[in-house]
Amino acid sequence: MENKKENFSEWYNEIITLAELSDKRYPVKGMNVWLPYGWKIMSLIDSIVRKAVDKKNFQEVNFPILIGRSMLEVEFEHIRGFENEIYWVTKGGKENLEEELALRPTSESAMYPMFSLWVRSHADLPLKIYQIVSVYRYETKHTRSFIRIREIHFFEAHTAHATYEDAEAQMDQYKEIWREISSQLCLPYFYDQRPDWDKFPGAKYTIAFDTVLPSGRSLQIGTIHQYGTNFSKNYDIKYLKEDGSFDYVHQTTYGMSERLLAAIIGIHGDDKGLVLPPDVAPIQVIIIPIPGSGVLEYARDVENTLSTINIRVKVDDRENYTPGYKFNDWEMRGVPLRIEVGEREVKNRTLTLSMRNIPGKVTIERSKVIYEVPDALIRIREKMMDDAQKVFRDHVFRASKLEDFTNEGLITAFWCGSKECSDRIESETEKSALGFMVGSNETGKCVVCGKEGRLAVFSKSY
Ligand SMILES: [Zn+2]
Repeated sequence: MENKKENFSEWYNEIITLAELSDKRYPVKGMNVWLPYGWKIMSLIDSIVRKAVDKKNFQEVNFPILIGRSMLEVEFEHIRGFENEIYWVTKGGKENLEEELALRPTSESAMYPMFSLWVRSHADLPLKIYQIVSVYRYETKHTRSFIRIREIHFFEAHTAHATYEDAEAQMDQYKEIWREISSQLCLPYFYDQRPDWDKFPGAKYTIAFDTVLPSGRSLQIGTIHQYGTNFSKNYDIKYLKEDGSFDYVHQTTYGMSERLLAAIIGIHGDDKGLVLPPDVAPIQVIIIPIPGSGVLEYARDVENTLSTINIRVKVDDRENYTPGYKFNDWEMRGVPLRIEVGEREVKNRTLTLSMRNIPGKVTIERSKVIYEVPDALIRIREKMMDDAQKVFRDHVFRASKLEDFTNEGLITAFWCGSKECSDRIESETEKSALGFMVGSNETGKCVVCGKEGRLAVFSKSY
């Protein structure tokens, strides 16, 4: 296998193929086939996301994939922001369509005409919905599995509120939701407020969750957007206030994609292959029988016990492979916990445990398996988070002048916020402004022009 540190890009492509996550050979450019193992991981990520938003009273919906041209032909910067990326359906059978239809690049223009029908009075607010669907963008840049593709597996949440304050409170709640999701996926991140020229088209402001891959390049893994009344004024979404007057709603959105999987692969994997957080591992525990008398029965019995406490567990009973081959195979696929069972374990009523990311083996009593295994999975997750935080910190550098921007990774520096200064940084260092670091109040002189600035984050990004 490729060396992750030296050739991250090659390593990333290789592990996706070896672990059978997706197949890039599909004959339409930028569209890959999800293979069972990859799709299962993505589905587990989706269920973590669903659980986190359902708890906050979001409701799941499913909108049509097609959007009429008239819905998109509102004179509005949001539409202009996407016009070069839209796929158009122009024919039904052999007939030209009366109205051309777009494949959704995102769903504002699909949902908001309906919002204007659904929202009548303040009693209908807040309206909080989400969907997990494919969206389509005609990417012209070089495509890369799970990072830049033309068919995107997309989570999008949309809300409408009576006041701007309520919409701001929703932005805070998104961060709470993200904290919960990111801790299960063991992903470190910065919150960056995107510069105005890089915010979501039509938004008042955009906050991104940025992480960094071992290549030193940043990866945007989620975004939340405050729309204010920018969209409701264009889509005429009004509600009747208690005093009898009408007002436009205030809106927010939250978007994520299979980049979450890209981050998991890139951040946690090693030279043996994937390392999966237990919460998204299709198989959390693999039991490998070392052939001998009574071993297979014993292994199956342990499998049954762990199934009863909802552990995703499997006995690898393939006959044509050696235990050594199986060890490597499941390590490559990132299974968090391996249990070895041989005649000695059967005789002593014990089990031998190996954790994917913690060296050494641990012997436990068979009778304690329902306590020891969940404990081990928690330890694995905590270690993954610690290690990921450490690598993240190692990729963050503080710069006090332009010459300090040479390090591979995220650069934090004071910046006045001007496009001129960001462009100058980009032309000299290839790194551009991800935005001001949210939550930092530090101020100082801009590294370029020397004017008063705030702490910002810069990087070369995917
Ligand atoms: Zn400046």
